Amino acid sequence: MQISDNVMLLGNGHFNHYIVGRTQAVLLECGMSAGIPAFVRQWANLNPQPQLTHILVLHSHFDHVCGLPIFRKMFPQALVLGHAAAEKLLVKEKVRQLMQMGDQMVSQVYFDDHRISEKPAPLDMDLLTIDKAVREGDIINLDSNLKLQIIETPGHSSCSISVYLPQEEVMFVSDAAGTAISEEMIAPVFFQDYDLYLDSIRKLMNYPTRVLALGHGQIIRGYDQVQNFYQRSLQSAQDAFAAIKNELLAGISTEELTRKFYDQYMKGGLADYPVAVMLASVGQLVSNVAKRL
Ligand SMILES: [Zn+2]
Ligand SMILES: [Zn+2]
Repeated sequence: MQISDNVMLLGNGHFNHYIVGRTQAVLLECGMSAGIPAFVRQWANLNPQPQLTHILVLHSHFDHVCGLPIFRKMFPQALVLGHAAAEKLLVKEKVRQLMQMGDQMVSQVYFDDHRISEKPAPLDMDLLTIDKAVREGDIINLDSNLKLQIIETPGHSSCSISVYLPQEEVMFVSDAAGTAISEEMIAPVFFQDYDLYLDSIRKLMNYPTRVLALGHGQIIRGYDQVQNFYQRSLQSAQDAFAAIKNELLAGISTEELTRKFYDQYMKGGLADYPVAVMLASVGQLVSNVAKRL
């Protein structure tokens, strides 16, 4: 689906992939094996196909990088860019094992309920690498005068970057501005740090944005709608912080609280993820509040 003159959204509705550029192009977001068949079908139908010169990794969570080994095979000429913290993390053997496991578990869920017809092969983890680190203020120049601007937006993870396309006022945020579970609910995903997360959303609000291109689910269109999404996401994080704080002060165990928040927020596409992984992530929310009490 074309979302602006030079931006196309591909993917299965949960794992979003963006192609920026009509001749020379950048792929943003790598998703997971379970989402690749949808991408491959859509890519094959593009006529003409742009020439993909860069792949941008917006953060290193398993649901945003497991597709990278497959994309490296599809687009061997593309230079892979990401935050230095992601570059460091992805070469760790233990991390790679967990990624492989998580990727296969999600594929199994998709296979079992017939969302994919074949179980994907195990990933070639030697291809899970970033070629070059990018940081705040870096610009990626494409032909047709297109520029992509790198903005560091930590708080969801230390390696979270957002990417701004000023010509068309499109902002790609991955999970840095919250995960939309439904039209009404935005999950507060301050897994790294609460204050950094709020600061990042406030920073993003300063960029005139006509289209907010999220890592998962539907995109947000319209200046007011984008600002409204950011406001609701801030509110969701503040509400979650207050709720966790009150429960902890009332003496609830962290395990019980983690479970409660898991049930509240791990819905939609997130419910397909391994429970243990997401319980650990929600546990981060709880401990990020606990350390501030
Ligand atoms: Zn994430
Ligand atoms: Zn995600």
